[in-house]
Amino acid sequence: MDRWTNVGSAGLLVIEDGLATYEIGFAIVHFDGVPNEQLPDEIRSGFAEDGLIYLPYNPTLIRTDTTTVLVDFGAGHEAAVEWEEDVGHAAGSLRAAGVSPDQVEIAVITHAHADHLGGLVVPGEGGARAPRFPGARHLLARAEWRYWVEEEPAGVSVEMIPDARRDLHALREAGVLELVDGDEEIADGVRLLPTPGHTPGHLSVLVGSGPETAVVNGDVLLTPWAFAHPEWDSRADVDPELAVRTRRALFDRLVESGGLLFAYHLETPGRVRPAGDAYAFDPA
Ligand SMILES: [Zn+2]
Repeated sequence: MDRWTNVGSAGLLVIEDGLATYEIGFAIVHFDGVPNEQLPDEIRSGFAEDGLIYLPYNPTLIRTDTTTVLVDFGAGHEAAVEWEEDVGHAAGSLRAAGVSPDQVEIAVITHAHADHLGGLVVPGEGGARAPRFPGARHLLARAEWRYWVEEEPAGVSVEMIPDARRDLHALREAGVLELVDGDEEIADGVRLLPTPGHTPGHLSVLVGSGPETAVVNGDVLLTPWAFAHPEWDSRADVDPELAVRTRRALFDRLVESGGLLFAYHLETPGRVRPAGDAYAFDPA
């Protein structure tokens, strides 16, 4: 059974793409170079046997009364094969949920990292790339486009740049990419929320209003330890200081609203509450 979550009149569904492995020192720079046996128990207990952490890729589908919105779409099949990771299953998950590709009207790209963007593009004719959802408006922050395409991206591993450029250009050339300033309503009760730091144009998505709200998030947090330690940055954070400020601001907002958090790299949605100087997460 698909587990839709109702938020106001909207329904939200996690579209599982799979699980990928990461070195702890990548996901949490604080532990870079620290031998496994010296890691605190709270971290070690989250490890797989091989000393790597598993992070899910969880795109979210939002259905309002009038519009179907997708937030990110996994890594794509080709990347899964190349990386030898058990991801790239989002298309099958969407099909299993009974949603056909032509029903997706808006695809929000939280940011241009391959684990979020890659699945929105498929191999096309003659080695070119083409949109998986050719009928959908693909929304990307103008700041994200500028960073990856118009500038020489700083603060990022260089091997990420060609994939991001290739996929963004493919969407642009197909005429489906729209650059947005952020903080705007994209469907009835669905708003974009700029959450910069992980990347310069990182976007989150707000659903609902008043006490019934949800935030659908890309990479403001990468691991379940971000709640107890919002100050821990990841090697993928382009601007670590801004990423930490944004993370705390988002958690504060969720505490205040009592709304649900759908986070791309967490297994389930849940709610954030204060805990000492930091936060804790209760899976819903
Ligand atoms: Zn990610």
